[in-house]
Amino acid sequence: MLGAFEEYLVVLTNEFRLVFQVILWPIVIVGFIANVGVLYRICCVNNTNFKPFYRCSLISMALADLFLLGSSGINILSMIHHRILLWNLSDLSCIIIPYIQTIAVLVASLTLGGIAIDRYVAIKSKYLLSKGPSWILTFGIIFFIWTISAGAAYPVLNIYTPQKLLVINNSTSYTGEHFTTTYTHVLWATRARREHLLATKYFACSCDRCKDPTELNSNIGTLKCPCGPGLILAKDPLDINSEWSCNSCPGVLTSMEVHQLTERLGEEVENAMTTAKATVLSDLLSRLSILLHPGHQHCIAVSHSLIQLLSPEDPKKLELCKHILNTTSILDPYGTRLALYTAVALRELASCSSKDKKLHLERAIYLLKHEPPHSPGDELRKLIEIQLSK
Ligand SMILES: [Zn+2]
Ligand SMILES: [Zn+2]
Repeated sequence: MLGAFEEYLVVLTNEFRLVFQVILWPIVIVGFIANVGVLYRICCVNNTNFKPFYRCSLISMALADLFLLGSSGINILSMIHHRILLWNLSDLSCIIIPYIQTIAVLVASLTLGGIAIDRYVAIKSKYLLSKGPSWILTFGIIFFIWTISAGAAYPVLNIYTPQKLLVINNSTSYTGEHFTTTYTHVLWATRARREHLLATKYFACSCDRCKDPTELNSNIGTLKCPCGPGLILAKDPLDINSEWSCNSCPGVLTSMEVHQLTERLGEEVENAMTTAKATVLSDLLSRLSILLHPGHQHCIAVSHSLIQLLSPEDPKKLELCKHILNTTSILDPYGTRLALYTAVALRELASCSSKDKKLHLERAIYLLKHEPPHSPGDELRKLIEIQLSK
């Protein structure tokens, strides 16, 4: 199940909800009474002047209106009942309501089409007192309209699927779940994290991330195999001496070989970072990409410096921003450890395209809102706020 903070989902102000309800309730009530009145007038009051097709068309349109009013009214009124824009009705209604709305609109349109044809025929035949289609033909036409509308709206049943979302607010209570935190660097691969925890906190971590060779699919420690598509992963990440094997060929590396390679590349990364030149970092990243997964900690580290040096027009920048944000979204989904790091990448991503620019900048501000006053994170937040207000 996905989780989200309540304050991030609040989109409706109290004033907006009030105004909307004041406008909507009278429309729904008047619409309901008027359409029921039409049905009563046609069905219960004896009036032989009404032609069969005219009667049935009015009934068909009144029913379509009632369907539309009922489904849309319930949908919108339930939505503005809360400050949070979430689906408040049952899962089944999430599928049924759009279906009913579509049928109602199609029926109303087709019935109007039928009335237009009926008028055209009446004018053309020059009958002053045209009776129009007979009762049997009228029933056939109305039945056809409703059937074809229900059939044409059928694909709408597959468009919406309800999903569960855990809304986290101050009253959220957790039962039976352990809260976990991290005492080490989030962007280090498993071996470095576990060694650091053992040396400073005196325990051998065996959390879900440490146990998973792909580190929750972030691949922050994954190597590439010379065989091509293969990825080299630790057979047992909790064993420091475990062999590393390729997942698509029989290739195997010892733990020491992987360690030495990672350390050597780490030194190269550190040296290149001191120069802060786009060409140097770009060359290094190309060489790293031959040996390491694009999500590897060294690639992410170089990419994070490189995105701040590349011009927004460079397509490489967009790609690297997405790699970084993919990694941080897996390893620190709520921005508790990498808020500043992620916010920098979001700001660079926002510079690449005007599409979603506002969204990325707002996300960056949200991540930085708990940064201490006058800290680098706080300063960046102010800068982005100015950028957004322009
Ligand atoms: Zn762990
Ligand atoms: Zn291989």
